[in-house]
Amino acid sequence: MSENEHRRTGLSRREVLRTGAVAGAAAAFGGMAAVPASAAPAQGRPAGGRDDADLALVNGTIHTMDADNTVASTVLIRDGKILAVGTRAGEHGRRVVTVNLHGRTVVPGIIDNHNHIVLMGNRPGHHTPLENASSIADVQQTYAERSAGIPAGAWITTIGGFHRNHLVPPDQPPRLPTLAELDDAVPDNPVYISEAFSGPSATNSLGKAFFTGRGIPVGDDGLIAGGFGASPTGQATLALRQTLLTFDERKRGAVDAVGYGLGLGVTTHLDQGAFQAANAPSDGAAHEDNYTMHLPFLALHDEGGLSARLRINFLHMESDPATPGLVERLRNQFQFFGDDMVRTGGIGEFIAQGTGTTFAAAALRVAEAGWRAEVHSLSATDFQAEIQAFEAANAASPITDLRWVIAHVPFITEDYVDRFKALGGGLSLTGWRYLAGSPSGNGPPFRMIVDNGINTGMSSDGMQIAPMNPWLHMYYATTGLNARGVLINGGQQISRQEVLRLYTRDNGWFLREEDVLGSIEPGKFADLAVLNKDYFVVPDEELKQIRSVLTVVGGEIVHDTGEVDVR
Ligand SMILES: [Zn+2]
Repeated sequence: MSENEHRRTGLSRREVLRTGAVAGAAAAFGGMAAVPASAAPAQGRPAGGRDDADLALVNGTIHTMDADNTVASTVLIRDGKILAVGTRAGEHGRRVVTVNLHGRTVVPGIIDNHNHIVLMGNRPGHHTPLENASSIADVQQTYAERSAGIPAGAWITTIGGFHRNHLVPPDQPPRLPTLAELDDAVPDNPVYISEAFSGPSATNSLGKAFFTGRGIPVGDDGLIAGGFGASPTGQATLALRQTLLTFDERKRGAVDAVGYGLGLGVTTHLDQGAFQAANAPSDGAAHEDNYTMHLPFLALHDEGGLSARLRINFLHMESDPATPGLVERLRNQFQFFGDDMVRTGGIGEFIAQGTGTTFAAAALRVAEAGWRAEVHSLSATDFQAEIQAFEAANAASPITDLRWVIAHVPFITEDYVDRFKALGGGLSLTGWRYLAGSPSGNGPPFRMIVDNGINTGMSSDGMQIAPMNPWLHMYYATTGLNARGVLINGGQQISRQEVLRLYTRDNGWFLREEDVLGSIEPGKFADLAVLNKDYFVVPDEELKQIRSVLTVVGGEIVHDTGEVDVR
């Protein structure tokens, strides 16, 4: 049943969501108690674009990202979808809530086709992104502001998504903040800052007391040693998870994570799963329970409180050549099942451990089941084994219509791009090298890939080794500069128009939703972001400061800084 058909029956979208397919999906995940609806319209603002009122954005510079790159001044939204795009609001016949843009730049809602927002939502403590900090003072200010909004004694944490490289100006050696600096900023809340997958980490005096009380070594300067395996950072992260994570805390974290994305203009996330947690100190920032970690997001959705779209891939990383878990997943799970807000996806970003015989066997199974597969490539050669295995799978069960994806691809060569293109595949590019890349640890070859014409999209791969902020990734893709200001990806830059297209219109293909998402065109879902700066003209360094001042998802204002005239 379409949304319009629901509407004719007199059910609002939220009622449909509460009673519809996702209740079934929740039951399939183990069942959840029904929770009363608590839809939260933008505070004190008229709500347009749904039910009883249209939403009109007028007097703007609206980059529709349609096939002709049309720039319009007005867009009219009705029942969650774009009704008209043009130079003025047309006939409507209903009450209209009007957003006067006063010339502001509007872009389609950003689609992040590969990230780990579910991990971000399940972080212990009040996770506070530091990806936009460019000095220790920025860290202190960010934490002080966070502290003001939470109870004394509550943990402020930042687990992944940043690197010390951007916390200190390029003329000084990179480092984490010290215990004294963190105490200065946040005297009344324990603090835990942990870099990437497995540290190193830093804490303040309150945090140090907690950790040392559990036998976890902390330096006088607040540093906690990192490393894979049972490092002090691994012990510290585990202690916080075991102490702090209740289901309600995970739900609060999910709201925070989604809200953070909306402030950046990200309206759709394709989540790529986690490493399966063992509840041991060897778990890193990217470990969670793949079988329960979506439940806080599904609970929010059930209550009408999920305000960005979530698509869910299932990560499988088995070393057993029989891949028993993957076999059961393919047998028992529906792909592309759900509704417009939450929907399952394919298998990814792993289908098996490694790229050897187990990987090839897994590819065969996914192809035979007719599922989408997504894997990643990080090394100078792994993409060769992956694409060869995909070719072998395709020979047994055609995958050319299944839209298989390889993500990151820092070193892919054009002959392999061509081979993957022949399989109907697509490449998900990301600017994660921005944080810690070097002239040899660089890529991906944006220019070569975009010019090749293979299906291409853009993603963040946040939240461990990369930031979520799409504007940082666009900065890297268009300048080739890392966080230290070093040109590391020269010759592979693409234009601002090109990378925005990858992050919006072209990402529709990766969701199989190109008919309804990715551009501002009549009939598509009304997902868009009003920006604080003109993306197309600001100097390169100002790209990093772009934010959304008003974000709309499905015709509803879901993020609003109050800077835009809404009446
Ligand atoms: Zn990833």
